[in-house]
Amino acid sequence: MKIETLAIHSGNIIDSNTKAAIQPITLSTTFERGENGDYSGGYMYSRSNNPNRKSLENVVAALENGIEACAFATGNAAGMSVFQALEPGSHIICPDDMYHGLRNQLKLIFKGILSFDFVDFTDLEQIFKVIKRETKLIWAETPSNPLLKLSDIAQIAHIAKEHQLIFVVDNTFASPCCQQPLSLGADMVMHSTTKYLNGHSDVTGGILVTKEITPFWEKVKLVQGYGGAVPAPFDCYLVTRGIKTLPYRMRGHVANAQALAKFLENHEAVEAVFYPGLTSHPQHELAKKQMLSFGGMLSFLLKGGEEKAKQVVNGLKIFTQATSLGGVESLIEHRYSVEGPDTKTPKNLLRVSVGLEHIDDLIGDLERVL
Ligand SMILES: *Cc1c(COP(=O)(O)O)cnc(C)c1O
Repeated sequence: MKIETLAIHSGNIIDSNTKAAIQPITLSTTFERGENGDYSGGYMYSRSNNPNRKSLENVVAALENGIEACAFATGNAAGMSVFQALEPGSHIICPDDMYHGLRNQLKLIFKGILSFDFVDFTDLEQIFKVIKRETKLIWAETPSNPLLKLSDIAQIAHIAKEHQLIFVVDNTFASPCCQQPLSLGADMVMHSTTKYLNGHSDVTGGILVTKEITPFWEKVKLVQGYGGAVPAPFDCYLVTRGIKTLPYRMRGHVANAQALAKFLENHEAVEAVFYPGLTSHPQHELAKKQMLSFGGMLSFLLKGGEEKAKQVVNGLKIFTQATSLGGVESLIEHRYSVEGPDTKTPKNLLRVSVGLEHIDDLIGDLERVL
């Protein structure tokens, strides 16, 4: 089945008693045992599993072309369960522009437990250089935040295979409609479902999908069940509901982002635009090769520095000045002031999560303040 069909059907279980067409929300924390003590319904206790969580895991596994998924309460909890599943002393290779919440998690929580190198993933030599005996995992994020740099998933998968490393891709920025890392050779995919998968900026969640059942994956499942950072049934229901329209939402995000990127690129107040769908993007050829479409995220630099950037953000009426991404509404953000002093993000950069408003209104709003 194609992704539009999978998005609608692979996360919906028709209740055998009521025949409700839309799966109900199962709030019960515990499930009745049979006379011989078995769990005939397949569920025992809601931290271990829950029907709504199962549906969410099924649909995202299907969308990502994987075989099993583990859902979590946030994207960061999904990332953390990967790091917790590694043996202490393991070494991880991460991009130098990794999502700052996960970079800080490694630096502040896993310091002394794991070791890590943050390198530039646009240069594969840099990955080769830091591989050592303790290296167990490569973590990639593409397109990256906030400069929309790409990592070559197929090439990195090749390096990982050669050195017997686990290769995980954070696919949050792209969504499974725009990029399928497992088909390009990655072992696991991670999402913050808070973003495009839910798509309405009203749930936090995270998920991991695996291509194969391995001992490492079994360990991740132990972390999910015993670590217990699991999503609530209602949150799972909302994300599963959001996913039904994901393929159509992504078409709108991509079309609007492409048009907005073009508009910005031709505007005299703009110094540079970063969007993988522009032929001016330094990795546009790689984008065409590994992405199905170019996503809804872009960033741009303003002539006139930080002051002008803040003036633009404050003058906009349709774009909301807020962090996060992937919702139906357009968001704009001055990233430098969010990421803190150790960031490499330019001070005159604005990041945009392009929403589903009419493109003429979005361009009009920007035109006015630029
Ligand atoms: C938001 C985000 C995360 C973290 O997800 P939360 O749901 O906020 O915990 C991880 N990676 C990327 C790329 C993100 O955008």
